[in-house]
Amino acid sequence: MKIFHDIAPLRAALKNAGRVVLVPTMGNLHEGHITLVRDARKHGDAVVATVFVNRLQFRPGEDFDKYPRTLSADAKYLEDAGAEFLFAPAEDVMYPTPQYFHVDVPDELATILEGEFRPGHFRGVATVVMKLFQIVQPDAALFGKKDYQQMLVLSALVREFNMPIEVIAGDTIRAEDGLALSSRNGFLSATERAEAPRLHRLLERLVASVRSGDKKFEQLENAVMAELKQNAWSPDYVAIRRRSDLQAPSADTGAGHLVVVAAAKLGSTRLIDNIEI
Ligand code: AMP
Repeated sequence: MKIFHDIAPLRAALKNAGRVVLVPTMGNLHEGHITLVRDARKHGDAVVATVFVNRLQFRPGEDFDKYPRTLSADAKYLEDAGAEFLFAPAEDVMYPTPQYFHVDVPDELATILEGEFRPGHFRGVATVVMKLFQIVQPDAALFGKKDYQQMLVLSALVREFNMPIEVIAGDTIRAEDGLALSSRNGFLSATERAEAPRLHRLLERLVASVRSGDKKFEQLENAVMAELKQNAWSPDYVAIRRRSDLQAPSADTGAGHLVVVAAAKLGSTRLIDNIEI
């Protein structure tokens, strides 16, 4: 695997690489990222993974400074997974001047759910991914459904700007006890780690109710919120939404078109999860 920290040599190396598949990450890689990289291999000739902790998508007070940076372990992991190229730019390579141009994500996607609790987050995500698309010029890009709203934002970005990039969504990879893998899981204490799978368990229970015909969505959402609170979580939201745009479903939106999305804090760690219904 070739490692690049600068744009020009990366671009030169990619010139004759055939069909290029991009897997953007913030590093501290786990099996979720690595599964995306392995899948990426099936969609092209050369896999480019990127590792960059993007300041633009963090708000003051969020965990930008303490976000784990583990580049040498990440590089080894990526090499084993079969990535051909790793692009790991320093901050002044991605942002040599302050970033004055941004991707303006429409409110319908940017200010709901994650966007309500992390204002400006998707603007930062869309802007850095737009930059990575320009730098790498991939033919395809993989994003995880673990970050469901992000995946929708980036699919819409590609569609609306007519970018010739195939967007591929990867399934959420979980620990054996159901907890969605996340770099943030490393922040959990042993007690919190034992408690953490409750979020997924409660979402599964909600999904089972919807699948068996329960249409009282608000009641189901509230029941999960209440049970999280009883167990010392601080939930931000639990919401059954349309898969296509994460808006509230209408009465005739059936299973197969729904997703339940949730975010909750356990101690000082904020976890998100979702299940398609
Ligand atoms: P991150 O490093 O958290 O920005 O994630 C990089 C990419 O990996 C994003 O497309 C995420 O959606 C995806 N990802 C993160 N965790 C998982 C997981 N547990 N399963 C599948 N994809 C994931």
